[in-house]
Amino acid sequence: VRRNAGDVEFHQAVREVLESLGPLFERRPEFREAAIVERMCEPERQIVFRVPWVDDAGRVQVNRGFRVEFNSALGPYKGGLRFHPSVNIGIVKFLGFEQVFKNALTGMPIGGGKGGSDFDPKNRSDAEVMRFCQSFMTELYRHLGEYTDVPAGDIGVGGREIGYLFGQYKRITNRYESGVLTGKGLGWGGAQARTEATGYGCVLFAQEMLRARGEDLEGQRVALSGSGNVAIYAAEKAQKSGAMVVTCSDSSGFVVDEKGLDVELLKQVKEVERGRIAEYAERRGTSARFVPDGSVWAVDCDVALPCATQNELTSEDAVQLVRNGVKAVAEGANMPTVPEGVQVFRNAGVAFGPGKAANAGGVATSALEMQQNASRDSWTFAHTEQRLAEIMRHIHDSCHETAERYGVPGDYVTGANIAGFELVADAMLAQGVI
Ligand code: NDP
Repeated sequence: VRRNAGDVEFHQAVREVLESLGPLFERRPEFREAAIVERMCEPERQIVFRVPWVDDAGRVQVNRGFRVEFNSALGPYKGGLRFHPSVNIGIVKFLGFEQVFKNALTGMPIGGGKGGSDFDPKNRSDAEVMRFCQSFMTELYRHLGEYTDVPAGDIGVGGREIGYLFGQYKRITNRYESGVLTGKGLGWGGAQARTEATGYGCVLFAQEMLRARGEDLEGQRVALSGSGNVAIYAAEKAQKSGAMVVTCSDSSGFVVDEKGLDVELLKQVKEVERGRIAEYAERRGTSARFVPDGSVWAVDCDVALPCATQNELTSEDAVQLVRNGVKAVAEGANMPTVPEGVQVFRNAGVAFGPGKAANAGGVATSALEMQQNASRDSWTFAHTEQRLAEIMRHIHDSCHETAERYGVPGDYVTGANIAGFELVADAMLAQGVI
């Protein structure tokens, strides 16, 4: 505990996993003898660095950069970069820790890592974002490589930022190493369906949970939070599946749209114009209203998809959702539900898909992007989407089956934690004390 003093989110993520593992350790005592937990909780490497850059007014700005290379038992470190003023080492460690198990669950050969910076891209010009990304990569490049560490996007890091980061990596190394970053543009090594993958995958996971209970997503009322990459494509996929998505949000409030979100308008406002959701509501007309305060989770729904950020869904929100009759919750974001909220859902018998399972479609499709880069190939959208659907079904089934095997049927939290942990632990055992 002292070694990670103050890393609140990291403690929260570790506790959530360790609390599930008792039954596994009874069956596999060799994990305890080999100190697997102790090693699993200590990142293999943590890199913290200065990122100096010059803003448009000619002033020197200084940010802090991070990359936590958590675990490489299954493959090169893989996980996104987050640019947000709230980023600190504890947040990066929590995200990296979760990533290790998530990546294992995908069944792909990828280890876990995460990184980012406290840089805030909001209200920064393209030129400022480019100079920041170039400075960030000028330090980070020495730690990366397609066989070593392969970052991707996360909050505040989308196609624009990946482009600037890739350009600088290529320039410094003089190598066109496509597989060193994922989330690239379609014309230069990116994969079809990567942009859509996390949101689509989250909805596919929700669909699988509903089917396991003899229900279907079609005709359901969906509430979701966020209006970024994950939220937009979760909304798109849910509506394509015949559900109606009635909310979205950003850090200034939320929108209720009783006719169902107009996803094309949302993309125009958020992706093209980099605007706010209040503008969406203004342009949408009478069906939508913007609500600056209160919680998006007070809106009546059958299915809830938290897709914004950690700890955004409180225990009061969970109680309200249960009161409104929510049937399924699938986490598009990482750890968006506080632990007490998760308990509320479990006690009420709500199907609850934790982020490390429900949002694994993004990283799985990143691994498919790496496969295409390695073979200098490029697959169609339909082919990649098909692979994504198979992977999400596989993740669902392995969590579901593991939960049954350990006597807690329907408990996807325990299922995901045990299934992911066992895969990584077995590889660590085989590779010796390193
Ligand atoms: P984006 O930056 O595209 O969007 C983030 C969204 O969440 C924005 O609408 C943002 O609003 C909102 N948000 C962020 N922080 C807060 C906050 N503190 N309070 C309220 N709203 C907030 O990020 P992504 O969509 O990529 O990521 C969303 C979540 O999904 C994260 O938890 C991320 O780790 C997770 N995730 C993402 C994956 C991916 O492939 N992109 C893969 C797996 C998980 P605002 O603009 O006002 O800040």
